[in-house]
Amino acid sequence: MAVVERVEAGSDGRRRLRLKNPASLALLGEIEVCDAEDVRAAVERARKAQPEWAASSFEERSRYVERAVRILLDRQDEFLDRIVAETGKPAAEALTTELVTACDAMQFYAKRAKRILSDRVLPLHLLKTKKLRIVYRPMGVVGIITPWNFPFLLSLNPTVQALMAGNAVVLKPSEVTPLSGRLVGDLFEAAGLPEGVLSVVMGDGETGAALLESGVDKISFTGSVETGRRVAEICGRNLVPCTLELGGKDPMIVCADADLDRAARGAVFGAFSNSGQVCTSTERVYVVEDVADEFTRKVVKETAALRQGAEGEFDIGAIIRPEQLDVIEAHVGDALERGALLLAGGRRNPDQPGYFYEPTVLTNVTHDMRVMRDETFGPVLPIMRVRDEDEALALANDSRYGLNANVWTKNKRRGARLARALDTGCAVVNDCMVTYGVTESPFGGTKESGIGRVNGDLGLKGFCHTKSIVVDRLGGKSEPTWFPYTARKARTFKRVMRVVWGSSLGRLLS
Ligand code: NAD
Repeated sequence: MAVVERVEAGSDGRRRLRLKNPASLALLGEIEVCDAEDVRAAVERARKAQPEWAASSFEERSRYVERAVRILLDRQDEFLDRIVAETGKPAAEALTTELVTACDAMQFYAKRAKRILSDRVLPLHLLKTKKLRIVYRPMGVVGIITPWNFPFLLSLNPTVQALMAGNAVVLKPSEVTPLSGRLVGDLFEAAGLPEGVLSVVMGDGETGAALLESGVDKISFTGSVETGRRVAEICGRNLVPCTLELGGKDPMIVCADADLDRAARGAVFGAFSNSGQVCTSTERVYVVEDVADEFTRKVVKETAALRQGAEGEFDIGAIIRPEQLDVIEAHVGDALERGALLLAGGRRNPDQPGYFYEPTVLTNVTHDMRVMRDETFGPVLPIMRVRDEDEALALANDSRYGLNANVWTKNKRRGARLARALDTGCAVVNDCMVTYGVTESPFGGTKESGIGRVNGDLGLKGFCHTKSIVVDRLGGKSEPTWFPYTARKARTFKRVMRVVWGSSLGRLLS
């Protein structure tokens, strides 16, 4: 059971992987796995191409990216077909979550990178004889390693940011969905990007590991906590900066005053879209007991209306990586054994040829069940009753993850208070999962959900070295702090300290 199978190495000795469509199990083709030598060659090409790319103006870089947007618009059906074949997700979902967001990200950074990364000159609060300029320099060659759940968008988005910041990129998409990752390379090749500025190296963990050791100047990693830890260890040893966008166990808090129709629809969408294979899926619900029955009834009704399938119009697609089915079954099994009640789903879909798990709703769950603690990454929605929203908040925060969270209430102040108090990198009020699609918003986690941020001004600057340049404005033969140290100088500095930090006028000016 796998959509990726190792193929015996041919006479050339090269490793190959065979790929299948997870919904229909149709054969999709084979890829050749890039080895350490291939990765080194790609990084070398990137290293050669990068200085000229960095020297190009933002307008020139934008032209390539905007050309890529137009090509994507023209070839959207071809791109969609490839993504759907590799992931088994509904075409409508692939369109909105992969292509619409990709167009927005490309246009956003093409238009704004110049402003976001322009020099900043800051007036100094004390040293009036100096001037500070902050400049953003590209890091050089960026290695980008990505997962399979949004194989096009999660490969494209960091790539565009890295490129607009003046870096060259070596991209390693997931071995589960390499053909969708390769579309990013195809797109920029069609847009005429200079040779070497972007390379896609296809392969599995060994290829990713080779990229970590290839001498790149930054690693942007999106994937599991387990692999993220290994990435961090290697980056730590090599002193290479990295951003880690890892897993989540996103909580949903339903307050007594929530709009229950909207909250129930939001819960179903948050838990089941992309078959729950979203880092920001709603993976556990805490609902205040006064409204728990009504909310749960609505969730079950909405769930019953979902259509699971592989062709035509449907809402819920396949499990992209079938090994994930074992995790989903283990979590649901553990919950049921320990007293949870099954209100919908709870099994693989027997009517489909490929890998499908039915949208599953559980109640009577407790906080110590695996389904409430570990990332399920599947279409499972466990609902737990709580006394009040403070209990919900405490349980939501009692997690090793801290990616995203959502809160449902009609009271704006309550929503803001809970969102602020959630120990997560992002939070949403009266909606869910939307953060990654809000291009201005920095995105990332706390605790085991990761380190660093992608997207928005902060994410773009993360692909740069922030460099400070301090310039002396007045000249002169010496500075008061320079040699020689004398008793007279020391007395003067003591007087200055008293005036600047010991008087109200001084504090006002400092
Ligand atoms: P994964 O960690 O198994 O693989 C991610 C990537 O790392 C793949 O390209 C893989 O080939 C590569 N890799 C594997 N071993 C490696 C090694 N030793 N060195 C370097 N690279 C290696 O994750 P996955 O199963 O592809 O993705 C699912 C996970 O990703 C989930 O936990 C999900 O929550 C997380 N995710 C997080 C975000 C986010 O933005 N926070 C977004 C999407 C997915």
